[in-house]
Amino acid sequence: MHEYSIAYDIYATAKRAAEDNFATKIKKVHVGVGELTMINPEQVIFLFETMCEEESLFKDCKIECTNIPVKSECECGYSGNERFVCPDCGKLPVVKEGMEILVTNIEIEVEDEDD
Ligand SMILES: [Zn+2]
Repeated sequence: MHEYSIAYDIYATAKRAAEDNFATKIKKVHVGVGELTMINPEQVIFLFETMCEEESLFKDCKIECTNIPVKSECECGYSGNERFVCPDCGKLPVVKEGMEILVTNIEIEVEDEDD
């Protein structure tokens, strides 16, 4: 299932980033979801949270999905959010944004040495 591999990618990315930063806990993961990805964010959130339950690093971790709108450019100089037909010249614009799913930020907790 598509959503499962997306959720797993988010999980793996967050985990790697947390480990690189010596995090003891991941509090929140921010994810940008392109408008054209055709995925169901609720499903991804559900699957991600299921994965989090298995791992103490992710205990009570929240995930927040933000929509990434379509952004396209045409060779005539048009840029906007038309996907199929350039409103200026009628050609097919090139989609630059809106097809991706990416972890934009993670909030972590790091071991406090003074504690
Ligand atoms: Zn054009």
